[in-house]
Amino acid sequence: MTEQISDPSLKSALVVVAHADDAEYGCSGTVAQLIRKGWEVTYVLCTDGSKGSDDLEMTQQKLSAIRHAEQIAAAKILGLKTVEFLNYPNSLLEPSLDLRKDIARMIRKHKPDVMIYNSPTRDLSNSGYIGHPDHMAAAEAALSAVYSTARDRLTYPDLLEEEYEPHKVAEVWVMHGGEVAKHVVELEEQDLVKSISALKAHFSQVSQEVGDRMREWKIRSGKPHGVGPAETYKLFKLD
Ligand SMILES: [Zn+2]
Repeated sequence: MTEQISDPSLKSALVVVAHADDAEYGCSGTVAQLIRKGWEVTYVLCTDGSKGSDDLEMTQQKLSAIRHAEQIAAAKILGLKTVEFLNYPNSLLEPSLDLRKDIARMIRKHKPDVMIYNSPTRDLSNSGYIGHPDHMAAAEAALSAVYSTARDRLTYPDLLEEEYEPHKVAEVWVMHGGEVAKHVVELEEQDLVKSISALKAHFSQVSQEVGDRMREWKIRSGKPHGVGPAETYKLFKLD
């Protein structure tokens, strides 16, 4: 069994993702469990959600509004109090200095113990999914914001003028840790049920049959670690 080595004294998390529904796919069971245990969890969405539709009648503006509303509904199901939208154009996200600074501002504002996000590298080991460039861009910018933009006083002094003091994050959890994961969150049934409900709140993106697939994914994630349904993370403990 994989050792559960995340620090039990931690109490808050900031989840940084590219799109509405990314967190629901990757870490919503964990988020449900953390909130149930009294954690404060906040989402930061980097893009405006203006692209994921094949509907010829759909406009970018209309879709963006729909996806914002779906994300807020999903967050309410999980018990989050705050969702922050950075509103960079969907599908065109880059790990730019502007994005890094905006995420650093969010870290300084919310002062999380833990940051959760996708992997900044493309995984070509899966024959059915090649990954989305926005996911990698968001993760790369978020990692760079944690170390070192959010913690350095002299980087972006204008953030100090906005009264966002530097902040050091204690741990980083990178989603979809796979068989080499160092942090495995085994989900109780109530967490799994909530995470499926939250994913289904993204009506414009998922079919209502997605629940069975989600349950299978989580069972498969836990198996190599000798536990039930789970979400897995690569874990980094920072000084
Ligand atoms: Zn996505």
